[in-house]
Amino acid sequence: MRRTLIAGNWKMNGSLSANAALLAGIKAGAGKARSCELLVCAPFPYLAQCQGELAGTAIAWGAQDVSEHASGAYTGNVAAAMLREFGCAYVIVGHSERRTYQGESSEMVAKKAARALQAGLIPIICVGETLEERQAAQTDAVVGKQLDAVLEALNDEEVGRMVVAYEPLWAIGTGVTATPDMAQAVHAMLRAKIAARSAAAADRVKILYGGSMKPDNAAQLLAMPDIDGGLIGGASLKAEDFLAIASASA
Ligand code: PEP
Repeated sequence: MRRTLIAGNWKMNGSLSANAALLAGIKAGAGKARSCELLVCAPFPYLAQCQGELAGTAIAWGAQDVSEHASGAYTGNVAAAMLREFGCAYVIVGHSERRTYQGESSEMVAKKAARALQAGLIPIICVGETLEERQAAQTDAVVGKQLDAVLEALNDEEVGRMVVAYEPLWAIGTGVTATPDMAQAVHAMLRAKIAARSAAAADRVKILYGGSMKPDNAAQLLAMPDIDGGLIGGASLKAEDFLAIASASA
């Protein structure tokens, strides 16, 4: 049985005071969402704040990117071991905003996932297609290729520890969400691909849905058999909405 994971992606939002209020709100209401695991992925400068506020609670924290290198002359990059020092349990890799704005290739994303796993972090590996690709019936090919690059870079044990997030680009931050059936179809395809590599890993790997998940559509999405949680952008910035999504998974 895979425990639902509700992960907030704060993106480049927040401030010390806004985060303090948000984290206090999440902590106050987290008891009602005990059946699922809660996670917040904060910008690097706020990881120490998350550690200070969340250590000893049931809420996990993580980062939004990690270097594919272990250490060295990579100005501006942040190593997986550094994230571990700040108590991170998870790190998002290959978010479509990084693939688009930072030109991250699937091979680079796969290296980042491998580096995260080697350091004891769980990578949340994002995959997803554009609207044009969906309209051209290329969703499975595009998303499948993004996953294949990761499967090639990891051993079976590592595959079993990863989390995948299916995030159709046309649904991110747009208010348009994939229907539960559309999302389920892609999630089932992704799980079948993982199963072809390792049945045990496929059973274990959580596949999250991301793309305008909100309190009013979360229950239907999370009820699908292969949707094991959500990666939530906009709605994760309001404690009430984030917790309402978590409650919808019960
Ligand atoms: C995201 O950025 O991962 C995301 C899913 O954003 P939103 O929920 O705002 O669509």
